[in-house]
Amino acid sequence: MAEEAGGTAIHVDVMDGHFVPNITLGPPVVKSLRKVTKLPLDCHLMIENADAFIPMFADAGANWVGVHYEACRHLHRTIELVREHGMEPGVVINPATRVEVLLDILPLLHHVLVMSVNPGFGGQKFIPYSLEKISHLRRLREERGLKFLIEVDGGVAHDTITDVVQAGAELLVAGSAVYSGGDPVKQGRDLLAAARAADPALSRI
Ligand code: ZN
Repeated sequence: MAEEAGGTAIHVDVMDGHFVPNITLGPPVVKSLRKVTKLPLDCHLMIENADAFIPMFADAGANWVGVHYEACRHLHRTIELVREHGMEPGVVINPATRVEVLLDILPLLHHVLVMSVNPGFGGQKFIPYSLEKISHLRRLREERGLKFLIEVDGGVAHDTITDVVQAGAELLVAGSAVYSGGDPVKQGRDLLAAARAADPALSRI
């Protein structure tokens, strides 16, 4: 359904019950997804000790791996490990974490994911100051001639998507806005249409 709706990547929320207060899925589900789609599998690891699991996600067929700044003691090492396993690394920052902490590693990243809710549960309300963080990242990318993509996750829906896109995000993670209360294919298409209306250049992603 996500593909039919026009989705360009499948975002997989991996939670361990330690870093976040919820447990979801892991490499076996990623492996099952790999069999049914050719779209990039974007694994968002909300887990402690990500280093131990990176080889398993690689074997399962993950393409992009986002690890939390707050969960990685040796973030640079973890990013290298993701690359060594043939995947594209991203770093995720929680709502209380400032963009500045990423300054030195931005050149190494495929994407930066701005959490616009606290990670752990779907269906939460978008935290408005996340928009500032997105535009800050876009400014830094321009100033430094970098290429990382800007992703946003949490509360992305019809009432927030225009602001999110205009702030500079191009990877838009939507869960509830697509899968709750209606036809996911139609809701996905409508959301994507709203995003592209806010910035026609989004079609390049
Ligand atoms: Zn996520």
